[in-house]
Amino acid sequence: MTEAWRPDGEDEQQRRGASGPVKVRVPAKVNLHLGVGPLRRDGYHELNTVYHAISIHDELTARRGDTLTLTMEGEGAGELALDDSNLVIRAAHALAGYAGVLPHARLHLRKQIPLAGGLAGGSADAAAALVACDALWGTGLSRDELAGIAADLGSDVPFLIHGGTALGTGRGEAVSPVLARPTSWHWVVAIADGGLSTPAAYRELDRLRAAGAATAPLGSTDGLLAALRQRDPRVLAAALGNDLQDAALAMRPSLTATLKAGEAAGALAGIVSGSGPTCVFLAVDDADAGRIAAELEAVRVCRQARVAHGPVAGARIV
Ligand code: ATP
Repeated sequence: MTEAWRPDGEDEQQRRGASGPVKVRVPAKVNLHLGVGPLRRDGYHELNTVYHAISIHDELTARRGDTLTLTMEGEGAGELALDDSNLVIRAAHALAGYAGVLPHARLHLRKQIPLAGGLAGGSADAAAALVACDALWGTGLSRDELAGIAADLGSDVPFLIHGGTALGTGRGEAVSPVLARPTSWHWVVAIADGGLSTPAAYRELDRLRAAGAATAPLGSTDGLLAALRQRDPRVLAAALGNDLQDAALAMRPSLTATLKAGEAAGALAGIVSGSGPTCVFLAVDDADAGRIAAELEAVRVCRQARVAHGPVAGARIV
């Protein structure tokens, strides 16, 4: 047993950590390029992706407590289990185990990122829990140490610690920032009714590829990275791509109408976000995005259409 696990370890932890609540905001992600390579021996696919953090946020508040508890409100409340299966609880345990402290906190999640929407909401919440509990417990880990713990929790979690726009390789957990001059891109995010399972989308892609029914793999991110550097939304629009889109459309054929409606409304391009069913559309500017969102809601091709911009910061204390 380490020293931190003795009763006086808790006293020391109380002195080191924050006394008041710690509130962390964390963004959703979209993949501007999601290249899916072959299935690896460990069951993951090799990915070649460009992550992009957008301004739809979940918020996690951490307070001192005698045990570890989680409550929530917003998207998915009443549907999402709040027990040890929740990524927030898993992240808190992982950090406590790594730092040798007691996993005691009262956590409250305000969720705006839809469940199983292809926007990495669960991964975002795990990233928020790592940053919030690190401050609450005074464990003082570096962003890189937190990203190391994050990688064991899920492939997208390290990116959501960093935010911005970044290249993801391996199974997506190896993240390196894309250094581009600051440009804000304007998005419309069409949120669907219900979610899609990410593992099921990868299985469907494998099935389509085996049957020769998938579009050719995207391959390298070079074209997308070059397009980002040009800072012209029309150029970026032409470079967006997602290898999982065929699978998402096969599993949810109504998304074809959503994509068509966005383009008819004047979006520069539309793609399925990650494993779907959320679709994202690139607009020229914020006003254009607002107009496209209103039109998507008017033609009822989604549950809700939201305007967002990116890139934004990763999990941050507010
Ligand atoms: P990704 O894009 O990373 O594949 P997603 O956006 O499609 O993810 P998430 O909302 O991250 O999907 O959730 C996927 C599954 O993770 C959910 O169906 C749920 O069972 C589980 N999960 C565990 N904890 C959470 C959480 N805090 N928020 C959302 N989902 C969670």
